[in-house]
Amino acid sequence: MKALITGIVGQDGTHLSELLLAKGYEVFGVENGQRNERAARFREKFPEVKLLMGDLADYSSLQKILHEVEPDEIYNLGAISFVGLSFKQPELTANVTGLGTLRLLEAIRQKSDSNIKFYQASSSEMFGKVRMVPQNEFTPFHPRSPYGVAKTFAHYTTVNYREAYGIHASCGILFNHEGEHRGHEFVTRKISSSVARIALGLQKTFTLGSLEPKRDWGYAGDFVQAMWLMLQQDLPDDFVISTGISHSVKDFVEIALEVAGLPVELDRFVVHDPNLIRPSEVDLLVGDSSKANEILGWKPKTSFRKLVELMVENDLKIEKQRG
Ligand code: GDP
Repeated sequence: MKALITGIVGQDGTHLSELLLAKGYEVFGVENGQRNERAARFREKFPEVKLLMGDLADYSSLQKILHEVEPDEIYNLGAISFVGLSFKQPELTANVTGLGTLRLLEAIRQKSDSNIKFYQASSSEMFGKVRMVPQNEFTPFHPRSPYGVAKTFAHYTTVNYREAYGIHASCGILFNHEGEHRGHEFVTRKISSSVARIALGLQKTFTLGSLEPKRDWGYAGDFVQAMWLMLQQDLPDDFVISTGISHSVKDFVEIALEVAGLPVELDRFVVHDPNLIRPSEVDLLVGDSSKANEILGWKPKTSFRKLVELMVENDLKIEKQRG
């Protein structure tokens, strides 16, 4: 079996490559040559994965890669994925995250001799200003950022290509998922690495925006299992993937301080930075993944506390080696 992954050098691409290689897949990845440091690390970790030059913003490169690889499964994880950046570069976000998905689906449709199964990384950010708590597959979307809007376009495009052309295309509406491969621009990694540095005496404080937003945070290693399961089904469909429990940014900081053996005193370690407040915020996300449990047999294995522990311990190790 051959799998092609866009966004392969990112967090989910790393976990998914690990999973698919362990299952005996031949794994191919699309790389745009821009995230050189991450790509170099990825190459070192997975020498058996073949990286091909291409870009979701460039249709002909995608078409060429599909002809070269002839994949059985495609996982579209590539995106401008950071909500904060999407406010600063909305057009780039729409082009890569939104139109990029359309380009890839169109390349699949044009390749009429194939039976490719397609996975789209949809996002809980599409729920935005939530209309129901918890959110499931029937909850209306109300995105609150250029990222959420672009993901909503990509989601509906995937559904449309499934319905119009019979492509085996499924969307995983994944709630926030974190872990040791998370980028430092996301709040969980920012907290785990800052707290680790404080515990080691390398810094005294760190900045945060709003502490109140609540997210349903799960472990990325658990969540990529669900992506694979979706493509093993006879019929394509859309699934919410979440833990069903939500915590505030403040909760994350408190547990991280505790795990690092520091006093749980936010005022002492966290400096409020109003520049980190977003123009429009998603206040509360909490998912209901009972459909995935029923049909895919999927459920999360890692608790919130375990996730924070895993991230802080990983950063303590990294920062110790660095220092
Ligand atoms: P998101 O849910 O995809 O936007 O994931 P993030 O990890 O980027 O942000 C999660 C929540 O943390 C959002 O509500 C942010 O506004 C909030 N937050 C508070 N301070 C920070 C910060 O310093 N960096 C980031 N990335 N988010 C922060």
